[in-house]
Amino acid sequence: MPETTFRYRGFMLDVSRHYMPPEEIRKLLQAAAFLDMNRMHWHLTDDQGWRIEIRKYPLLTEVGAVRGDSFFGGTPVKERNSGFYTQEEIREIVRFAGSLGIEIIPEIEIPGHAAAMLAAYPAFGCCRNETEKWQDHVEISGGIFSSLVCAGSDGAVAFLKDILDEVTELFPFDMIHIGGDEAVKYRWRRCPDCRRRIRELGLPSEDALQRWLVLEIGEYLAGKDRRTVVWNDVLDGGLLPEYFIVQQWMGGEEKTRAFMENGGSVIRSDTAYCYMDYPYGAIDVKRIREMPRIPDYAAGLEDRLLGMECPLWTERVTDLDRAAYLLFPRLTAMSLRMKGEAEELDWEAFRDLVAEKEKELEQKTGLRGAPEAEWSLSPEEAEAERDAENRKIHAPEALPFVQKQDELLRIEKEERTQKMQ
Ligand SMILES: [Zn+2]
Repeated sequence: MPETTFRYRGFMLDVSRHYMPPEEIRKLLQAAAFLDMNRMHWHLTDDQGWRIEIRKYPLLTEVGAVRGDSFFGGTPVKERNSGFYTQEEIREIVRFAGSLGIEIIPEIEIPGHAAAMLAAYPAFGCCRNETEKWQDHVEISGGIFSSLVCAGSDGAVAFLKDILDEVTELFPFDMIHIGGDEAVKYRWRRCPDCRRRIRELGLPSEDALQRWLVLEIGEYLAGKDRRTVVWNDVLDGGLLPEYFIVQQWMGGEEKTRAFMENGGSVIRSDTAYCYMDYPYGAIDVKRIREMPRIPDYAAGLEDRLLGMECPLWTERVTDLDRAAYLLFPRLTAMSLRMKGEAEELDWEAFRDLVAEKEKELEQKTGLRGAPEAEWSLSPEEAEAERDAENRKIHAPEALPFVQKQDELLRIEKEERTQKMQ
């Protein structure tokens, strides 16, 4: 492979919003291996479902893996709302991936996106006043919620470490992802235990409390010879030591750059190019070909860029056909960019190479991607696709949930501003 090949070439699969059976995951792994990818980031926990068996805490799956309805907009399918992977199934998938040269990075979301976790174990959530805990349920819509693990509770920190003990037993690879994105601090501002922790540690903010928790977990995992990966939001609480890995997805580019300048390593997953759940009207194959190989925040720090990863979030992905339609040929095109193999090709030659790879991939795996008409859209076609996706997200049955999220984000913004004054 060329010298410009990224070391980390991956995709991410969200199985919280919709469960995906092991045989389908194996098929995607085969496709990824065919594309010379070497990482799968497995997003196993979120507000809408906890999908990994943890033996010490059986309610995580008994309660947290079960969801009745979904209001993600335009996805009335219910078959895949519930389900989880037993530890034996996980070992089997890990073995299979390993045989293909793919390492799996499991993600346990901390401290936010924790509704399913806290629905199972409310004792590890925050207090809403002096005596009562918040009560959560497995969320049935997409978006951002206020559920956070309580950073003021020693019991909650021990609970997280217990979970990670089992996770690290199952996944023998170098990296463990602990999330960290979209953790609105509504509850931490109100929780007596979190307030006390902030006071005792002399922390300047709730973001700094998140950083404290992340360091606590990161050091614990470092003790097991693992590197901790976090979404870039965590840098809002201050710089992290260089043994962390930051996954850059949106915003905060200057903080990510500072982290890199300080010796930190970064995985690139910019929403502008890498999000495979976005419609082709937002990211088509031609756009992927035109993507700058090095993002601005990494200019001059190329050796700190481990590589790239393309997430597939599954709010509106309820079966393998839909997953394949969204992933291919965009992941195929991305794999060429990750390998640095097709940098000199003009659009027509790039498209022909992608078409050739697609044909072979379909023969090998049976996975069929989007038709060529979607690969390079006119501005009008692209806008129509984006509008259609927006209409799904804002479908009437999903709208009350969207409004509730907007209200939470409004309060969050207001309280942050007050604090800064
Ligand atoms: Zn708390």
